[in-house]
Amino acid sequence: MLIPHDTRIALDTVVDLMNTAPESDPPPDGTGDGLADIPALYAFAERHHISGVGTLGEKDLAAVRDVRDRFAEVFAAPDPRTAADLVNRLVAAAGTTPQLTDHDGYDWHVHYFAPDASIADHLAADCGMALAFIIVAGEQERLRRCEAPDCGHAFVDLSRNRSRRYCSSRTCGNRLHVAAYRARRKEAAG
Ligand SMILES: [Zn+2]
Ligand SMILES: [Zn+2]
Repeated sequence: MLIPHDTRIALDTVVDLMNTAPESDPPPDGTGDGLADIPALYAFAERHHISGVGTLGEKDLAAVRDVRDRFAEVFAAPDPRTAADLVNRLVAAAGTTPQLTDHDGYDWHVHYFAPDASIADHLAADCGMALAFIIVAGEQERLRRCEAPDCGHAFVDLSRNRSRRYCSSRTCGNRLHVAAYRARRKEAAG
């Protein structure tokens, strides 16, 4: 599957955004939320080189958290039709303006966010279209959650044979390999 650079970057952004969500049942004080406050939102925008977001406020924070929930729904969609419907609604609400661009030495590609779009609309448009690209390619099953117990982090499986099960082989995959190895050793010793 050939993925244009902007799609790849947008998919990384989707995954990182989803993984800022509190693990489960967010406590009311916002603990455990990677987007707990406005400085965290600025840091997120900077990390992903989201330009032209202007001054961010509480409204932006709430809107980005909402987009985060929408992405989680797309990942949880049981089939491509459900996923497509969710992406269509998300992208339509963001008011896209497709623009061909070859900025910063990259080859021609399309930006979807409208000029002066809020950060939430920017994310919904460009990341929503990146998810659309995956669905068009018939690859919805690549939008996954880590299978390690107590993890559940989102990731996009870009492996050739769609065999990736963990968010990161360095942490989750490795952790499980070590546990399985120890269990085998224990069995062999006992
Ligand atoms: Zn670009
Ligand atoms: Zn994991």
